[in-house]
Amino acid sequence: MIRTVVCEKEGCSGSRFHIVTDNNEIVLTCDQCKSENKYDISYYDFIMLSNCSKCNNDTFKVFKDTDRDGVYATCTECGAVPEKVYIDPDGAQVSYEGKLLNDIKDTLHLVEQRMCNLEVKVQDIERGQGMLEQSLAYINRYLIDRD
Ligand SMILES: [Zn+2]
Ligand SMILES: [Zn+2]
Repeated sequence: MIRTVVCEKEGCSGSRFHIVTDNNEIVLTCDQCKSENKYDISYYDFIMLSNCSKCNNDTFKVFKDTDRDGVYATCTECGAVPEKVYIDPDGAQVSYEGKLLNDIKDTLHLVEQRMCNLEVKVQDIERGQGMLEQSLAYINRYLIDRD
């Protein structure tokens, strides 16, 4: 179930937060009372930055998926998601475009490998056909020689 995150401080019902990612935690600072609410996001392969990816606003509504333990944020101004930085397989931070590029490279590599396998198979078939033709030629010659 998706729930709107509301400030945990007693007496405060703030639902607008500033976002800071600190190691494996996302720290939500309540816009009203400035208290911090922390959530574990160590399973994410990206870091949420504190500004909106579209309008640069820095206040977000935050939602929590109680089934899958996910935390989502949307800009209070335009509804877009916060800017994200992804972690590539080497542990380096890359932009979303960089991550996409890496994913595409991986896919291309897979396609390349499959093409290579196909090529080997085609070569096998060609070799097989070549041998067949040679055998037929031998048989033909044998038949002709015998006459
Ligand atoms: Zn609060
Ligand atoms: Zn925005």
